[in-house]
Amino acid sequence: MKQFLKQEVLREIPPVNMLLDLAEVKNLIEVYGRDFIVENVRLIIGDFRKNIKLMSREEITYYIIKKLNEYIDEYKRHGLKKVINATGVVLHTNLGRAPLPNSAIELIKEVSEGYSNLEFDLGAGGRGSRYSHIEPIIKKITGAESAMVVNNNAAAVFLCLNTLANAKEVIISRGQQVEIGGSFRIPDIIARSYARMVEVGTTNKTKLSDYSNAITEETSVLLKVHTSNYKITGFTQDVPLEELVSLGRKCNLIVIEDLGSGSLYDLSLIGLPYEPTVQDSIRNGADIVTFSGDKLLGGPQAGIIAGKKDLIDKIKKNPLTRMLRCDKLTIAALTAVLELYMDLDKAAHKVPALRMMALTEEELIYKANDLKELISKSLKDKCIVEVIDDLDEVGGGSLPSVTLNGKAIALEAVSMGVNTLQEKLRGAEIPIICRINKGKIILNLRTIKDKDFHVIVETLLGILGEDI
Ligand SMILES: *Cc1c(COP(=O)(O)O)cnc(C)c1O
Repeated sequence: MKQFLKQEVLREIPPVNMLLDLAEVKNLIEVYGRDFIVENVRLIIGDFRKNIKLMSREEITYYIIKKLNEYIDEYKRHGLKKVINATGVVLHTNLGRAPLPNSAIELIKEVSEGYSNLEFDLGAGGRGSRYSHIEPIIKKITGAESAMVVNNNAAAVFLCLNTLANAKEVIISRGQQVEIGGSFRIPDIIARSYARMVEVGTTNKTKLSDYSNAITEETSVLLKVHTSNYKITGFTQDVPLEELVSLGRKCNLIVIEDLGSGSLYDLSLIGLPYEPTVQDSIRNGADIVTFSGDKLLGGPQAGIIAGKKDLIDKIKKNPLTRMLRCDKLTIAALTAVLELYMDLDKAAHKVPALRMMALTEEELIYKANDLKELISKSLKDKCIVEVIDDLDEVGGGSLPSVTLNGKAIALEAVSMGVNTLQEKLRGAEIPIICRINKGKIILNLRTIKDKDFHVIVETLLGILGEDI
């Protein structure tokens, strides 16, 4: 651009103060504060000066406000927020695993907006224990003598071994050397707990004699890890918990079972394959059982330790417990979710994760047709939608070999490529996370709430509605 034109455009840049007086900018200042807006307006003007375009004052003002909104959108993109899970993976670890029931949300709200009896014994009027809120319920549901809760199941396994096998040997089958995900591996947790790992058997077969032959003076724990996120099939053998328990009793060793996904509900009642429940492990004599709060249990992130009272008393006294303890929000959510399990028949209807796993084909078809109708009505000629069969997963490293028959909307936009559309859905104000299959957007109904249907329609309208 010629020098004199450039000078002229520079003169047209509105002063910052004038911009701050505009109604639109004033509204933004209300929300984001003056400093933040001034800083960004200066940045935008600075960039504009370096890359001058021939524009009138009015156009420059419009340009700056548009940029300012883009900057704010970008800023808002960060931070934790709601997304719509249209993947059909019920316990999606990246999307926060289990959605909580309303009763949990209510209790979190009540407990966190004011004070609570978190560590206050209302009967005695003095110091209480944060475990006292969940311990009686876990005992009642599982039949365990005692229970406690920590930050997550990885912490639970670590804390149990650190307390009960410190500088001693832990025997574990080679077939149970689980990687939990995010390169977090059972052997590493054992090593950090100061327990010494003794591996027995082979990848596919481990016998009781493998365990008994490995027992020495130094042995303290027999550890069984539920391979909840993979399956070994074919020529395999595993030692049932009962046999490990008999061996443990005979040799005076502690038997710990890490159940991982840890269901309190017999999933075969809702048409899924049977998964060992926590109740089964306690009944079969495990001294300690550990499991996640946010996998099949359907609650908040937490690690639950249930079992023999003398052992759990020792674990509660370990100073590391303080570092791994969970906060009042978790305890509130867990209390409310466990209460739903007091009546096991009702749990499947009331715990959202179980409810989603239990959705029948008829229910899913109904949901799919509803969403399809809504999309077709609002976006008539903008996209082509059809209801298709889909295979859904439980996720969260639970029930790896199980796929549930599901239903999805396959959507194709008339004027936009599928990858661009997926990206725009992900970038929406309420992001919609979905897969692509055979060149179409797949919106799987199992994990979409009916009350989010209108959000999906409005988001699609925002992206595809304007004629491009
Ligand atoms: C998932 C899992 C863990 C870890 O549980 P988090 O609650 O995710 O920490 C530990 N052990 C097994 C067998 C698991 O499946």
